[in-house]
Amino acid sequence: MTAVMPTYARADLAFERGEGPYLYSTDGRRFLDFCGGIAVDVLGHAHPHLVECLRDQAGKLWHVSNLYRIPGQEKLAERLAETSFADLVFFCNSGAEAVEGGLKLCRKYHSANGNPERWRMIACSDSFHGRTLATIAAANNEKHTDGFGPQTEGFDTVPFGNLNVLRTAITGETAGILVEPIQGEGGIHPADMDYLRGLRQVADEFGLLLFFDEVQCGIGRTGKLWAHEWAGITPDVMAIAKGLGGGFPVGAFLATSEAAKGMTAGTHGSTFGGNPLAMAVGNAVLDVLLEDGFLAHVEQTGRYLTDKLADLVSRHGAVFTEARGVGLMQGVVCGPDFGAISNKLTDEGLLTVGAAGNVIRLLPPLTIEESHVDEAVAIMDRVAAGWDGAA
Ligand SMILES: *Cc1c(COP(=O)(O)O)cnc(C)c1O
Repeated sequence: MTAVMPTYARADLAFERGEGPYLYSTDGRRFLDFCGGIAVDVLGHAHPHLVECLRDQAGKLWHVSNLYRIPGQEKLAERLAETSFADLVFFCNSGAEAVEGGLKLCRKYHSANGNPERWRMIACSDSFHGRTLATIAAANNEKHTDGFGPQTEGFDTVPFGNLNVLRTAITGETAGILVEPIQGEGGIHPADMDYLRGLRQVADEFGLLLFFDEVQCGIGRTGKLWAHEWAGITPDVMAIAKGLGGGFPVGAFLATSEAAKGMTAGTHGSTFGGNPLAMAVGNAVLDVLLEDGFLAHVEQTGRYLTDKLADLVSRHGAVFTEARGVGLMQGVVCGPDFGAISNKLTDEGLLTVGAAGNVIRLLPPLTIEESHVDEAVAIMDRVAAGWDGAA
């Protein structure tokens, strides 16, 4: 590992294979994976349909570039459009790229309308949109911007959840509003439904584009394909990635044809984005997610997990002080340092992932059953009981 740039604080743990929601480490241990590759492994590990589609495509064609039509891309775009508010889809390779592309679309929209002065975006405190220069400026988190020079211009930060402050931040230069319907890295903060509806109203009132970052909360994680569906409103633009490729790097931004009116030939591009291999996997993920009853099962398992976590908090309030989230995107606020708790959970065979605010995130594969929830919560219970005893 010595030649790998040390930008990550990695656990001293490596895996050699996975099966469903389980991972097997190189030293022979089994783990229940409620980290899910940070909300990526939506179908768990080595899902037979994904493996088959990837293998099949790998023997035919990997990459041709976007100089040519790519049937798998047209198919996946059409399916995403059919199952969302959007008319048009651009494929890239990561979440940050998807957000960045969506930001470009917002600026281009107003420019195409003859209002090039409208190029600034309003974004929220405690948000996360990726690690490119523009996306770190959008999130405006000092931990990510420190030392990287003057911030990319064009972003105004307002408190998440507060419509009044947001209204006062709108100027003649504002192009749009960028929001995560459920903040992930910020510590699992689901937006109020009224807030999301209010954002739609404000955007309409001022002619702004509403841009949702569903990189983490989309792709079925909440029991609906898109998290904003719970609020009964739609955005104009949406960034997705993480779960879209089920572990293969795929990102995309989606928009209505009106919002995308400026995105004509030559305005944006990607060498790798939407290549045949990536599209075969993306289509395979949707094959499963769109099966009858799949999302209903996620919703049901999510409710079960929500109840079990509430119960856990009620019994171990000193160790786990609060649980919040939607569906299979849950956060548990820790009393003691979350890193220490998370290490102990790992020792006991449960993988989780941290978030801001001393939170442990649970982002399991969407394919888990109630028995896996029971197994995870039993481990959390045991660790909390040990902590109570030690304190
Ligand atoms: C993970 C994440 C991103 C960035 O995705 P990358 O693939 O790491 O670039 C952007 N927005 C949200 C909400 C995320 O959770």
